[in-house]
Amino acid sequence: MGAKLLRNGFLIDGTGKEPLAGVDVLIEGNKITQVGTNISVPERYRQDEIDVIDLNGKTIMPGMTEAHTHLTWQDALYIQDIDFKPIEETMLAAIRNAETLIKSGFTSAVSAAARGRVDIAIRDAINRGEFVGPRMLANGAEVSASGSFVDLHPNHVRVHGLAILADGEDAVRKTVRSLFKEGADIVKLNVSGESLTPHARNEMTLYTYKEVRAAVEEAHARGKRIYTHARSSDSVKYCVQAGVDIIGHADFINDEVFEMLVENKEKHFVVPGMNWLVSTVEEGAKYFGQEAIEATGYKEGLEIATFNMNRLYKAGVRVLPGGDYGFKWCPHGGYARDLEHFVKLVGMTPMDAIVSATKYGSQIMEMEDQIGTIEPGKLADILVVDGNPLQDITILQEHKKLEVIMKDGEYIINTLDVNKSAEIPVA
Ligand SMILES: [Zn+2]
Repeated sequence: MGAKLLRNGFLIDGTGKEPLAGVDVLIEGNKITQVGTNISVPERYRQDEIDVIDLNGKTIMPGMTEAHTHLTWQDALYIQDIDFKPIEETMLAAIRNAETLIKSGFTSAVSAAARGRVDIAIRDAINRGEFVGPRMLANGAEVSASGSFVDLHPNHVRVHGLAILADGEDAVRKTVRSLFKEGADIVKLNVSGESLTPHARNEMTLYTYKEVRAAVEEAHARGKRIYTHARSSDSVKYCVQAGVDIIGHADFINDEVFEMLVENKEKHFVVPGMNWLVSTVEEGAKYFGQEAIEATGYKEGLEIATFNMNRLYKAGVRVLPGGDYGFKWCPHGGYARDLEHFVKLVGMTPMDAIVSATKYGSQIMEMEDQIGTIEPGKLADILVVDGNPLQDITILQEHKKLEVIMKDGEYIINTLDVNKSAEIPVA
């Protein structure tokens, strides 16, 4: 691989520092080697080894991380649809969704559960260069208690779909161990309910503290992490007490649990899944009828989530974008909507929303020294955006405005002119 010189960009570097105009970024191989003004290409490169791209003041920023991804959820209306879809079609959809993710500007993704070993197989295939997709942390089936929101079928019908039902500490340990053995980077544990399933609503806590703790012990013993579904206040409390690394949702936390999270903010990431809530409230009636959506309580849930994410954000807890995309009313490709909700609902500055998607993204990926910011020495996971997301965060949702998407120094997308000489005048 040769060098790429991106000239005259408007740099949002992912650290949260003030943006800078007129910045050049030099990429050599898969790494960013220089960031500054009037950079010239080192003489060791022949002309045909250099790509020079004039950004004309367009935004250059790090690739983003989607922190609650389900590659294997596709066009689902009911959670049961995910269970019943045959694994072969599920695999094909997941391969497409991995490509959609990166072509939406998300060069990294943390899976929050998957069917079978699909995530693991796709992660490995992407890493071998066989498929286009983001850097992936793979997950496995949702580990859940009997009677949880993913235990959806009558007791006489057994379906091995998105969940593995595990009750009691020993069963949880055994399941977590087996999922890590199969190659998962992270295991998902459903600690609270989810009101789409009437027998296991949001506010119900469905695992005991000891079961949560058992899962965390097994993960940490292997240097791995647990990702929980935790909406109810008690479920989040157990997550903090047990040392769960990534807490999904956390929307119904009370003052006590809020304080606990703030005290332990270095240990946890919170991924609320704002867009799933917003979309369910705004679009759900189309699919389920107004009455049914109101009965779920998601409208009130969104208000509480907004309040709690605002105070968590202000207290310095890391709140990340990631939104359960893969349902009919919350389809793949819309991932950057979470950043819009962070700005318009949660009250983040656009810069902080970008930091949460980039720098915090690198932390949740456990790649902080490698990705997440545009600095010399980092891997070249880079976006060029036609427009300024600090003025309008929604432009990140417009895929056509993502004119360059680069991962590991390679173009996933480039719609800009490439010159083969560093000597062209900057327009
Ligand atoms: Zn999810």
